[in-house]
Amino acid sequence: MIEVKQIHKRFGEHEVLKGVSLQVAAGEVVCLIGPSGSGKSTVLRCINGLETYEGGEILIEGERVDSKSSTIHQLRTHVGMVFQRFNLFPHRTVLENVMEGPVYVNKIAPATAKKEALALLDKVGLAQRADAYPNQLSGGQQQRVAIARALAMKPKAILFDEPTSALDPELVGEVLAVMRNLADDGMTMIVVTHEMGFARDVADRVCFLHSGTIVEEGAAKQVLSAPQHARTKDFLRRVL
Ligand code: ATP
Ligand code: MG
Repeated sequence: MIEVKQIHKRFGEHEVLKGVSLQVAAGEVVCLIGPSGSGKSTVLRCINGLETYEGGEILIEGERVDSKSSTIHQLRTHVGMVFQRFNLFPHRTVLENVMEGPVYVNKIAPATAKKEALALLDKVGLAQRADAYPNQLSGGQQQRVAIARALAMKPKAILFDEPTSALDPELVGEVLAVMRNLADDGMTMIVVTHEMGFARDVADRVCFLHSGTIVEEGAAKQVLSAPQHARTKDFLRRVL
């Protein structure tokens, strides 16, 4: 479903991705872990076409992701993204935030979009807050709205970039619970996270990125419990 083949990316002189390859099958959950600056966000941004890359290629269901191509906007709607910060529209209600993409981008009839949005809000446990504004919600609730908003586009996959790291600790669980449900529903997900418990329980595979290279990859339990590479061992010693 998602094929990242030997991509290279540089910012000026700095090569931040040095031939990263990653395959994600439909329904698979892959966690991407690694130290700050290793290139995790850049990998996600390249997959979503938010960032250009110089070498290699990225395919989504066989279609090439190229941020300069005329189809990139359409392609981007197939891959949802949830960021560390919630990025909700502050002057729109929760319901309007979720309806926005389907109505304005996908040209879905508002009545249909509303029905679907309410169902998604119910799925993330926020049907009661449909008419609230983002600043009236907790961080965890806002992040759940952000997930509902991503789902509203009926994406083929969702990329999560540290979705819980801006949250107060007591709010992390509710967001991870929604993500677990999505994984159980068969959503294809790439999750950048420092939540090793989530990675161990939910991820089919874990990839450890260091200095723009995936140095270790394997089943979650294997990489997290019995890492082979010294860099992975060192990283896990610090985060676990
Ligand atoms: P973190 O855990 O802190 O979020 P990360 O693994 O997501 O880190 P990236 O944000 O992908 O790391 O950044 C990888 C490298 O690329 C870093 O050295 C960063 O400084 C650099 N970088 C990222 N975005 C840009 C940019 N727009 N311009 C220049 N350099 C950038
Ligand atoms: Mg990052």
